Amino acid sequence: MVNKLQDLPHKRFNPLTGEWILVSPHRTKRPWQGRQESTQTNVLPGYDPKCYLCPGNVRNQGATNPDYKDVFVFDNDFPSLLEDSVNEFCDQDELFQVEPESGICRVVCFSPRHDLTLSRMNPGAVRKVVDIWCDQFTELSARKDIGYVQIFENRGDIMGCSNPHPHCQVWATRSIPTIPANEDIRQEKYLREKDQCLLCRYVERELQSGERIVFENDSFVALVPFWAVWPFETMLLPKVHMGAITDMNDSQKKDLAEALVRMGIRFDNLFETSFPYSMGIHQRPARENSGDHWHWHIHYYPPLLRSATVRKFMVGFEMMGMPQRDITAEQSAKRLRDLPEIHFQDWDV
Ligand SMILES: [Zn+2]
Ligand SMILES: [Zn+2]
Ligand SMILES: [Zn+2]
Repeated sequence: MVNKLQDLPHKRFNPLTGEWILVSPHRTKRPWQGRQESTQTNVLPGYDPKCYLCPGNVRNQGATNPDYKDVFVFDNDFPSLLEDSVNEFCDQDELFQVEPESGICRVVCFSPRHDLTLSRMNPGAVRKVVDIWCDQFTELSARKDIGYVQIFENRGDIMGCSNPHPHCQVWATRSIPTIPANEDIRQEKYLREKDQCLLCRYVERELQSGERIVFENDSFVALVPFWAVWPFETMLLPKVHMGAITDMNDSQKKDLAEALVRMGIRFDNLFETSFPYSMGIHQRPARENSGDHWHWHIHYYPPLLRSATVRKFMVGFEMMGMPQRDITAEQSAKRLRDLPEIHFQDWDV
């Protein structure tokens, strides 16, 4: 079956979302005449006096950043959610439904260094980022007005990230957003019907096969999911069952920091560029008793397709029908797996 999957068009099912994706491996030989993005070669300074995330700088709303030495968290000056949204917006008109939404938006700077990324930081420094993620999840998910804590990183200006300073965002919402809510339902259903965790079973099967594995350490596996939509989409999954990042013990947190750096280096090495992506953590909702069905994980959605300048667009059939890809998940995994884990900027040293 595997060889046919590399040659013939077919659909693949995503059991986490219940959606299908079209795979067209026979198209990978067609000539490319699409858009070429300009290559970004500008070297960043370690400190930028105009950056609102660098230590000691004044932010747009007047607050001054402390002279922080590792990680730094603050409430977003332009939050997409407000803590005290009122209920008067409620409207249950069948065709014009409105519900209130409230929440908290924070920014986490990974490092005081303006010119670093997760892939250029050492695992010890990234471990502090992991600890901050855990602290944020613990604090925010304990609040009565919070239903879900979404941690995500948007990296690179082609992902619409306005500032290269290494940082992520934490959006804690009253309700559970659509995508994790869907994964919540699918994982709950799988556990109920099969008496086993969906992602525990999936990781077990992927480790047996090995063909979509990028790398692993004692606690985590990085793989291109069977149902990947983006050309080099990957997931980072704990090998043992855990509902939230706060369930990790000390050595698992250390292994996560290491895995984040290794994944970042492989991505950067793929097209020898600072690899853009959206990355995010999916974990159990904030409510108590949110069930045993949640297996937390990280998704990476990188847009690049065949070089540092050629990206994938979700247009045409993908907007109207379903997502589609040419290069198979197995081919992408092999390319990422075959890359060295020394960052390309250190290759000459
Ligand atoms: Zn900066
Ligand atoms: Zn599990
Ligand atoms: Zn997910």
